[in-house]
Amino acid sequence: MPLPETPAYDAAPVAAHVIAIANQKGGVGKTTTAINLAAALAEKGFRVLLVDLDPQGNASTGLGIGTGERKLTTYDLILTDGHPDEIIQPTKVDNLWISPANSDLASADIDLVSNEKRSFLLHDALRHPEIEARGFDVVLIDCPPSLSLLTVNALIAAHAVLVPLQAEFFALEGLSQLLLTVRDVRRSANPGLRIEGVVLTMYDRRNNLAQQVELDARENLGDLVFRTVIPRNVRLSEAPSHALPVTTYDSASKGAEAYRGLAEEIAARLRHR
Ligand code: ADP
Ligand code: MG
Repeated sequence: MPLPETPAYDAAPVAAHVIAIANQKGGVGKTTTAINLAAALAEKGFRVLLVDLDPQGNASTGLGIGTGERKLTTYDLILTDGHPDEIIQPTKVDNLWISPANSDLASADIDLVSNEKRSFLLHDALRHPEIEARGFDVVLIDCPPSLSLLTVNALIAAHAVLVPLQAEFFALEGLSQLLLTVRDVRRSANPGLRIEGVVLTMYDRRNNLAQQVELDARENLGDLVFRTVIPRNVRLSEAPSHALPVTTYDSASKGAEAYRGLAEEIAARLRHR
């Protein structure tokens, strides 16, 4: 496994700190982390944009943007000359906006192949004056479960990548693969790309295997693993069907507390940027 680096930031060229939430495995908690970390950061007063980059559009649904309300989506943000002001929508959470997604994005990988700037489209889109003018502090990108061109776009657009890791067998093998992709992106297009951190998700303290994965991760990756661990919490799985982040759906739940803890770890670094 590649050597970890300590998280620290160079002066950022864009005002917002852009974090790609990525793991090529599905069902590890990317979208849950995107929604609830975004809401917890917004609750702290940061102006947050969540970019839904998954054709499944789960982050959009989970934040209450119905499929009928997604006329213009992240697809238009990156592939047509869509105006960000017509794409980005407010959510029920103060300080939290979303660029929604739908199945249009499923064809993006193919549509992108013929595009010369295919890997830089999200990077460029986030530098659109209409986005700059909104003064976002943080942009979170909810990646699809693959190392596709969409995920590469996210890694090139981002200052840092946050990896949700489900504490189960093979989790660390999958992580090595992702870290290799991060290394490639650093070498080719985004030398400043950092690892924001690895967050253990759906963690069950009574499970010996989960404990072992946590030990291995902390031993191999050191400070790259967030102190905060996200427990398995039924409120986290219920919240999306109520179209709310857990911080609103059940503010006192263990899930809400955990995502506030994760937000605080990130906020502390943002304040010292
Ligand atoms: P991904 O975006 O990586 O595919 P999701 O965030 O959609 O993963 O999570 C997969 C499933 O697991 C969803 O049904 C979600 O509600 C559930 N889930 C995610 N994190 C937790 C958690 N900490 N506790 C309980 N359920 C969770
Ligand atoms: Mg997802």
